[in-house]
Amino acid sequence: MQIKDTTHQYIMDTYARFPLTLVQGKGVYAYDEEGNDYIDLGAGIGVNSLGFCNEGWTAAVAKQAATLQHVSNLYYTAPAAELAERLCASGHFAKVFFGNSGAEANECAIKIARKHSCDHYNPERTEIITLQDSFHGRTVTTLAATGQESFHKHFFPFTEGFVFAAPEIDAVKKAIHENTCAIMLECIQGEGGVNILSEAFVQGVAALCKEHDLLLLVDEVQTGIGRTGALFAFEHYGIQPDVISLAKGLGGGLPIGACLCTEELKDVMGAGTHGSTYGGNPVVCAGANYVMEQVKQPAFLAEVTEKGDYLAEKAAALPGVQSVRHKGLMIGIVLEKDNAKEVAKQCLQHGLLVLTAKNDIRLLPPLTITKEEIDQALTRLAKAL
Ligand SMILES: *Cc1c(COP(=O)(O)O)cnc(C)c1O
Repeated sequence: MQIKDTTHQYIMDTYARFPLTLVQGKGVYAYDEEGNDYIDLGAGIGVNSLGFCNEGWTAAVAKQAATLQHVSNLYYTAPAAELAERLCASGHFAKVFFGNSGAEANECAIKIARKHSCDHYNPERTEIITLQDSFHGRTVTTLAATGQESFHKHFFPFTEGFVFAAPEIDAVKKAIHENTCAIMLECIQGEGGVNILSEAFVQGVAALCKEHDLLLLVDEVQTGIGRTGALFAFEHYGIQPDVISLAKGLGGGLPIGACLCTEELKDVMGAGTHGSTYGGNPVVCAGANYVMEQVKQPAFLAEVTEKGDYLAEKAAALPGVQSVRHKGLMIGIVLEKDNAKEVAKQCLQHGLLVLTAKNDIRLLPPLTITKEEIDQALTRLAKAL
């Protein structure tokens, strides 16, 4: 009780929190002050890719914390170099910029697009097209990039140069004009309600980018690092983005953001053009290296796909569920009634943590969840429904 009171007294009330204080976690289970267990199908909003306090991850982080915790980007460190190499070894990208969050990764993507355009065209060619129902972050610029009216209140004036299009190829085509420099999208919109963009649409956007020499920026903050059963969600679409942003699942529980670009763009951001004091922090990168190592294990991604299909199929058969949209372990459950928030609260009573997105229940479980744990979670979800 005191923790909640102190929180409300001293932390700005920007969050609608569930009435639950968590004190410990192991695997998919989180524990409250009384020792009650909760199966966490939200993973701290898709962050704890390997669940709570995975042994190997904890050891890697603890070892690095006890060795060298921070040096700033005035110097070189092994964990950051190693992580950059690992990320680029996926074959799609040449260089990376490290920050601390998804919004910061997207800020870098936006800066690359504008600097590249300015270098090759003119300083007016700065406009970026984003999609309706997108979510790109909470900084003033990434809010401006977010295609949802509800985020465009307060905080005026916003960063200029963002236009929104419906996820239809004609709408995007219509939005392109002489000052457009890039198109930014999430292949699967997370906060917007687990909206899976069609292959035809995403490939159409990629083709428009080629035709008009626009950069394709793919926001993989929620979908990246195995979440959808591929290392990056764009791989499902057979496209090659120019820039992607990563964050949530990459660190396995510590704050990290990464912006990756192709060979062609690797020198756009030269010395002095960008920076972040904590970016590439060794402890955070040690954790991310461990996450990358696990995700790269043979069968890891295939298992994410298999477990996602299993969970989605079983969830679709529960009473009160209308339909389920999913790719891998990124799952949106459409309820018969418009009561996702209420169901999420009921889930707490039954020892289950879930997320909501728009009117849906959203699940982003740890990628390491087992089928037995999925069964147990579904039993709890059925009771809550
Ligand atoms: C969460 C999210 C962000 C913002 O990430 P932060 O770490 O909260 O800044 C940006 N884009 C997408 C797609 C996200 O899901």
